[in-house]
Parts: sequence; C-alpha cells; structure tokens
Amino acid sequence: MRKRILVTGGAGFVGSHLCEKLLAQGNEVICIDNFFTGAKQNIVHLMENPYFEVIRHDVTMPFAAEVDQIYNLACPASPIHYQFDAIQTVKTSVMGAINVLGLAKRIKAKVLQASTSEVYGDPHVHPQTEVYWGNVNPIGIRSCYDEGKRCAETLFMDYHRMNGVKIKIIRIFNTYGERMHPNDGRVVSNFIVQALNNQDITVFGKGEQTRSFQYVSDLIEGMVRVMATDDKIIGPINIGNPGEYTIIELAEKIIHLTQSKSKIIYQPLPQDDPLQRCPDITFAEKNLGWTPKVQLEEGLLRTIEYFKQIKF
Ligand code: NAD
Ligand code: UDP
Repeated sequence: MRKRILVTGGAGFVGSHLCEKLLAQGNEVICIDNFFTGAKQNIVHLMENPYFEVIRHDVTMPFAAEVDQIYNLACPASPIHYQFDAIQTVKTSVMGAINVLGLAKRIKAKVLQASTSEVYGDPHVHPQTEVYWGNVNPIGIRSCYDEGKRCAETLFMDYHRMNGVKIKIIRIFNTYGERMHPNDGRVVSNFIVQALNNQDITVFGKGEQTRSFQYVSDLIEGMVRVMATDDKIIGPINIGNPGEYTIIELAEKIIHLTQSKSKIIYQPLPQDDPLQRCPDITFAEKNLGWTPKVQLEEGLLRTIEYFKQIKF
C-alpha cells in the first residue's frame, strides 16, 4: 500500500538515494532540506514524479506534515562540513530530533533516526557492537557531530519511553557511492577526485587507521528493512560493511582502479580521528535478513564511473 513518507535531508547523498528507492516502491515522498550540503541536482530526476515534493526548510525550526513514516537524515556528515558551523550542527541534530519526534508523536508516525558509528568515538571495543557505549571526547572538534548524534539517540529513546513514539535507530558506518559531493572532504570522494586528476593523494597521519566502507545501495536496503520491522525492534542497529581497510590500503586500491599516476603524500592526522572502525552486524543479519552485498572494489568502480561523468 502507498505510504506517505517524510525524508529530512532528502537532497543529500544518502537522502537522495532513499527518496529514489521509496518512490520506486510506489510511495509518496516529501523531502525537507535546507540545501546546506545537499543539492537540487541530487533529486532533479525525481521532480517530475507527482508523488515527490520538496520543501526548503531548516529542521531546527518546527514543521508539519501528515505522513505515516519519517526518516530523519538532516545533518551534514562530512567532518569539514559539520565543523564549518559546529553550533548549527548541534542544533540540527538536537532540535531537529525534537522537531521530528514532536511531529511523530502528534501524527503517530513511525520515525527512524540516521545515527552514526561516530557515537562509538575512538572505540575500545572492536568490532563495535550495539551494546558498546563508546569512547567520545565531549569537547573536541568532532564533538558537535558525535555528541549531537548521541543526544539525538537519547531523545529518540525518551520520546519512546515517555510518549510511546514508534522509533527506530540505526548507526550507519562510513558509506560511499554516487552523488557524494566532489568537495565533500570524505576520504573516498577525496581520493577518487585526486586520483582522477593525477593529483597527490592526501593520506592523513600514517594511514594506518581503519574504516569499513559500505556502498550506498546496501545502506538504503538496510534502512528500508529496519523501518519495516515490527514495533518491538527499535535498535540501535549497526548498518555497515564489516570489510575493514587501512586508509593506505584504500588509497592504493583507488590508484590501481583508476590507473592513476598520483603519489601518496602524508598530512597531519586531524584531532580525535578514530584509529579503527568496524561494525558487528550480527543483529542486523539475524533480525533483518540483511547483509551487505556490494564489496569494496565493485562499489569503488561504480563510484569512480560516476565521478568520471560529472564535472568537478
Ligand atoms: P549529506 O551532507 O550529503 O546530507 C545531509 C543532508 O541534510 C543535506 O542534504 C543537507 O543539506 C541537509 N541538512 C543539513 N542540515 C540541515 C538542516 N538544519 N535542515 C534541513 N536539512 C539539513 O550527508 P549524508 O552522507 O547523506 O548523510 C545523511 C545522514 O546519514 C546524516 O544524518 C549523517 O549523519 C548520517 N550518516 C551518514 C554516513 C555516511 O557515511 N554517509 C555515516 C553515518 C551517518
Ligand atoms: N582521510 C584521509 N585523507 C583525506 C580524507 C580523510 O586520510 O583526504 C582519513 C581521515 O583522517 C579518517 C578516514 O580517512 O581517518 C575517514 O575519513 P572521513 O572524513 O571519510 O570519515 P570519518 O573520519 O568521519 O570516519
């Protein structure tokens, strides 16, 4: 049955893929975005669909819509962008959560929070399971994002406990794919853009830190499956690809796949940059029947093709 679904941050990298999937399933989708890091270009191909609406709005201010489900994605995700206006980042996570939860409470909608592996900070437990509480610096340059997202999780749980709001929380691990912004600053887009231009590849620190990279279609499938679970399942649920790589390995892979002449150069490691990151996805595999399908090389090749085609 056709559902009415609100996606905050729907014009961003992940949000645009989610809107596309929900429309393809025959739903009616309302996208709310202030276009801070999102772009009309990401969703322009959806605009001819009469079941798609776009509203320019900042989620730190209240909004209304009569919908069955809400996916709350509004928040810049790249360190460069979330540190650009750190106070606005906290407001987006915290006030944005209060506004979607207040709306969900009033209209009795199910609401899913796009949380992050950043809630684990620089983890002492590896791989990270959902029961791990994390190791987060509350006063550093990443805190506006990490603590904002942690507070949003708290608000989701409290609206659930106090008001019976139907919630889902997912913790997304590093995701990449088509429609990442070329100047986004995240490692996959940076390295691909540098490699395609035969520019130096900027590895921060020694490049021994690890990340687990998930291709965007796997994330979208996971999100939709979490939303479809029965009300007993609220999360948090890790959604990521457990394939773990050092940043040097990623750089070498991208140089190889693009047949680039780029050389690796080393730049200082940013403050509080986590040393390792890998999801334990046992819960998602058991309860959603979900597992990531696209392995790193295949996903990188698709992403490289995308970057070859756009102008940057
Ligand atoms: P993105 O920056 O491409 O998308 C975020 C979207 O939110 C953009 O369209 C932006 O304009 C919009 N936005 C930001 N502040 C807003 C505000 N105050 N009001 C309305 N809209 C606002 O990032 P993304 O990678 O697509 O991430 C989407 C969500 O997933 C974010 O909440 C992010 O924290 C979460 N997440 C992403 C990753 C990842 O690797 N991509 C990992 C963990 C969590
Ligand atoms: N990184 C890097 N060079 C870059 C961009 C990022 O070496 O040009 C490193 C960064 O220091 C981090 C990892 O790649 O260790 C992932 O960075 P990203 O910003 O993509 O995500 P996050 O740190 O939030 O996981």
